[in-house]
Amino acid sequence: MYFPSWLSQLCRGLSRPIGRTTQPTWGSFSRSLALSSQRRIPEFSSFIARTNTCGELRSSHLGQEVTLCGWIQYRRQNIFLVLRDFHGLVQVVIPQDESAASVKKILCEAPLESVVQVSGTVISRPPGQENPKMPTGEIEIKVKTAELLNSCKKLPFEIKDFVKKTEALRLQYRYLDLRSFQMQYNLRLRSQVVMKMREYLCNLHGFVDIETPTLFKRTPGGAKEFLVPSREPGKFYSLPQSPQQFKQLLMVGGLDRYFQVARCYRDEGSRPDRQPEFTQIDIEMSFVDQTGIQSLIEGLLQYSWPSDKDPLVVPFPSMTFAEALATYGTDKPDTRFGMKIVDITNAFRNTEVRFLQDALSKPQGTVKAMCVREGANYLKRKDIESIRKFAADHFNEEVLPVFLKAKENWNSPVAKFILEKQRLELIRLMEIQEDDVVLLTAGEHKKACSLLGKLRLACADLLEMKGMVLRDPALFSFLWVVDFPLFLPKEENPMELESAHHPFTAPHPGDIHLLYTEPEKVRSQHYDLVLNGTEIGGGSIRIHDAELQHYILATLLKEDVKLLSHLLQALDYGAPPHGGIALGLDRLMCLVTGAPSIRDVIAFPKSFRGHDLMSNAPDSVPPQELKPYHIRVSWPADSAAERSSSSHSHHPES
Ligand code: ASP
Repeated sequence: MYFPSWLSQLCRGLSRPIGRTTQPTWGSFSRSLALSSQRRIPEFSSFIARTNTCGELRSSHLGQEVTLCGWIQYRRQNIFLVLRDFHGLVQVVIPQDESAASVKKILCEAPLESVVQVSGTVISRPPGQENPKMPTGEIEIKVKTAELLNSCKKLPFEIKDFVKKTEALRLQYRYLDLRSFQMQYNLRLRSQVVMKMREYLCNLHGFVDIETPTLFKRTPGGAKEFLVPSREPGKFYSLPQSPQQFKQLLMVGGLDRYFQVARCYRDEGSRPDRQPEFTQIDIEMSFVDQTGIQSLIEGLLQYSWPSDKDPLVVPFPSMTFAEALATYGTDKPDTRFGMKIVDITNAFRNTEVRFLQDALSKPQGTVKAMCVREGANYLKRKDIESIRKFAADHFNEEVLPVFLKAKENWNSPVAKFILEKQRLELIRLMEIQEDDVVLLTAGEHKKACSLLGKLRLACADLLEMKGMVLRDPALFSFLWVVDFPLFLPKEENPMELESAHHPFTAPHPGDIHLLYTEPEKVRSQHYDLVLNGTEIGGGSIRIHDAELQHYILATLLKEDVKLLSHLLQALDYGAPPHGGIALGLDRLMCLVTGAPSIRDVIAFPKSFRGHDLMSNAPDSVPPQELKPYHIRVSWPADSAAERSSSSHSHHPES
């Protein structure tokens, strides 16, 4: 019988590292719940029917009379029963004598996963029957009384972590899935990290935890919002994509250190690391600059970092947006491994390779390369083909793989057009070795870098699938990305500008003059926090000058300023300089726990398509209930059939 070590780790306090585990492990630890001096043991059994948890009993409890409540995990030959609660497992001896027939009947007849309460004595197991793999393995419970609290019907899946089940089934029966050791670990760790964050912010640094409304109004720019109908004809609330405006208004209100564990809503469609509702650790401060916010966040993460991981080293490294794009092809570089992008334009000025020539003949043409270390040993022809196909399909670009291993003959036909001089220059620039593979591409700087950035990650996946260790799962590589541009060309219309972060972000003080001449060149005071290639936070120093804010909204972003008149007005009434940041708690916890998806660190997440598979939300509403909102559904032509079936059936999804 195995027992998870995670709870002991969770309870050991968050100040002492105990190893480099990224995932909780089922282990044979029998650590006691001894805590570091800074932390009190929580009272797990106060106010309720049990005296102890199943997982806490040890030889030191021998002779004690205990009452336990738990689920029947396992029964052996009607002699032993293993009882489980969040804390662990304990063996209960089913009495065999006549006088205890009723207790025996209850414990033998209750189906697995029924909830029972047992009272009895902690006794030691007979010599030779101890189970060293189980923290409670030296003892067992000699039962005197037992009560069936609730019987369990046949379950849709067994409550055992190793039993495979589809995610759709897990989400449909989420309350059962939550009984798993892994989900218990994830949610309890999340709670502890948030607790430490509150402690750090409120108790150590004087932040005020303030709730802001979730019924709000539409905000221009940014993410798509969910609408909530109101009883006033044609009027809608909006669910805020973040408390951005409120937290700035709190600064105007003199609440100069705000924080909130804030629920945010974005109607943005499915992406693997997105949820329509998610949680941010939302922060705002007055009289602060970028360095101040960064130091606060470093301290916050260091303080709340789980004790079973290596302590964080601060300050985190920092990189400009331009550098991130040029060397990693993205604004969220995974800095756990190299394979950086190198500009080799100059070496290839006189190339005979046609597609490189074509690219270089254009004014913005560049040639970029990336070296896949030992690629020749790992990448097969079909891998290279899939890399080239990816480049062609997604970027409309060509990729030229160059194998420098002479005896291999899988060189692409064009590779022979690379002159010896260029080959040597490439080897020098990129420190290429025998078994490396170099991927070359050409085109406009940003496009070529983005392509290689994507290929860098794809190659890393490929190499790891083949056994190379590139990204140490115990490594947490934080990085600040700074000096973003204030505006980016709009995707749908590149002649127009949109905010790279949001319209309240202040320009870089050195670039303000460019706002009126070349706004696309203005850098901003926006910073992102990246962890292992995922953006886990972002923020900015804000504009606190109403006139500048008005100019950016109206003239540069062409937004309807009337929608924001309250904010513009507030800035005019003595708004202090201020700035802030928000950390994505779900993404952060997903990386910390090593979970495959953010859904695994959220108790009741939506499916990939935004549905609650347990309750079947969103659901239809009868027309008479829509009346008070002055709303009528205009059904798409082909949805009539779907309409009649959708309200009662679960959509199969994964
Ligand atoms: N509200 C911003 C966001 O959700 C974060 C910030 O600027 O503080 O991205």
